Amino acid sequence: MARDHIPGSIEPGGGRLRVAVIGGGITGLAAAFELSGPPDDPGDPDAPEVVLFEEAPALGGKLRSAVVGGRVVDTGPDGFLARRPELSRLCRELGVERRLVGPGATGAAVYSRGRLRSLPAGLALGIPTRLGPLARSGVLGPAGLIRAALDMAEIGRPALAHVAPPDGPPPEDEAIGAIVTRRLGRQVAERLADPLIGGIHAGSVDDMSAAAVFPALLGAARSGGSLMRGLRSPVAAARREPPSSPAVFATLRDGMASLAEHLAGVLTARGVKIATDCRVESLERDRSGWVVATGAGENPVHFDGLVIAVPAWEASRLVRSHHAAMASMLSSIEYSSVAVVTMVLDDDAMPRSLRGTGFLVPASAGRLVTACTWLDAKWPHLRRSRTRLLRASAGRYGDLRHTSLDDRALVDTLLEDLRTTSGLSGRPLDLAVTRWPDAFPQYRPGHISLVEQIEAAAAELPHLAVAGAAYHGVGVPACVGDGRAAARRVLGSLRSARGVDQALGEASR
Ligand SMILES: Cc1cc2nc3c(=O)[nH]c(=O)nc-3n(C[C@H](O)[C@H](O)[C@H](O)COP(=O)(O)OP(=O)(O)OC[C@H]3O[C@@H](n4cnc5c(N)ncnc54)[C@H](O)[C@@H]3O)c2cc1C
Repeated sequence: MARDHIPGSIEPGGGRLRVAVIGGGITGLAAAFELSGPPDDPGDPDAPEVVLFEEAPALGGKLRSAVVGGRVVDTGPDGFLARRPELSRLCRELGVERRLVGPGATGAAVYSRGRLRSLPAGLALGIPTRLGPLARSGVLGPAGLIRAALDMAEIGRPALAHVAPPDGPPPEDEAIGAIVTRRLGRQVAERLADPLIGGIHAGSVDDMSAAAVFPALLGAARSGGSLMRGLRSPVAAARREPPSSPAVFATLRDGMASLAEHLAGVLTARGVKIATDCRVESLERDRSGWVVATGAGENPVHFDGLVIAVPAWEASRLVRSHHAAMASMLSSIEYSSVAVVTMVLDDDAMPRSLRGTGFLVPASAGRLVTACTWLDAKWPHLRRSRTRLLRASAGRYGDLRHTSLDDRALVDTLLEDLRTTSGLSGRPLDLAVTRWPDAFPQYRPGHISLVEQIEAAAAELPHLAVAGAAYHGVGVPACVGDGRAAARRVLGSLRSARGVDQALGEASR
């Protein structure tokens, strides 16, 4: 993508407001979309001038694709939770809702007790809500099943219901793993909760905030009743929905990465200046706002406001000289790294018994592979005759083995794991290896309060907001919502400051 010319410095206070968005991932793109005005009023004279800085040659951040076996395939997010409204709404605003497609297959498996086993029906995120399907799935051994069944028993539950200290007030947050282990036993935590919930963040439920990631679990744990019964109502509500309800998951027919292209087209049409290959090196304060210095040889440029939509460790670097406490809170958010290998295999390489969208491998299995998705079963528009498309993932928080393997060794080890776990055979006809270093922010217990403090610190700096996967959810819809909310905060703060300036000017005349 060609780099737009970035306008030279303007006199602070004069003319249109000018806002910089730093980071051209989905969060920054959504922020720029919000800043550049409502879609039905693109020529709004009050709309600020917006410049989007992205250090990579292309927009999209984690929204990325590769051509594998002649198909354009997402190598970052391949779909999104359509029940969250933010991305579905954005697709409508962009006029691409007709490009949305639902999954073909449903259900998944987990590698447990030496083979793949279908996940039990009635899971709430990754927590069983019914004993019968849990028992029939064979995911737990006999001791694990008895331990989980204790949750349903009246005797002894009050003692298990409270979190330590037993007679003190319940804590505002707790690790998901601690709640599940205490109430349902270690096997449920390791074989279901960790692969399913931990997998969303490529992290471990043992150090993952229940309040931020699964608030319903915290609520059910506090209620004092059975955890499994307490989590039943959302599962039952989903089952009662009419078949015409929108699919839980969706993707774009051209791939999630095409979202960045659709957004870039609309932003350009609205006059947003897009500067790719343009890393923001530093931020300086001036009398009325910020001066942004890039590594692209442009002169530093004045902006009235900033949306910082980069990973938390990079946001920390950018604000360090302006708010040391905010910088250290940002840098306390840890990240995990993953690698994904997208492969095309001959149809015959796949065992006939494989069903659903793929399978998960618990950390306790000790394998390199963490998950495998049958991409062309999940998204039927990717299906081609005589070949199959799949994606294997490696890496989670605390497991960096994949980073010391070169591409060949990574692929060989993953293939060996796939052979052992699923019976897959043969070599890929084509493949793409994608490395995602420091990609998934880890939401530790206390995350919500940490984010509140970061946002309060950001509000102490003039017209600045941070947004992205590190704060209010890692999924693409959450990032869209966060980017737009950050844009509104910055605009609101700028407009009220301008209102005060005008009122003072009129009063002094
Ligand atoms: C392998 C993988 C699979 C995933 N699967 C799903 C899924 O199926 N569904 C789902 O909803 N979510 C999924 N996610 C999560 C989701 O994709 C991300 O959380 C989300 O895309 C993050 O968007 P972002 O804009 O906040 O950050 P990023 O995409 O990281 O964007 C930040 C941008 O800032 C740029 N940048 C950094 N520093 C600077 C600087 N100094 N100057 C200028 N630019 C800078 C970066 O180059 C980058 O483009 C997945 C993520 C990965 C990695």
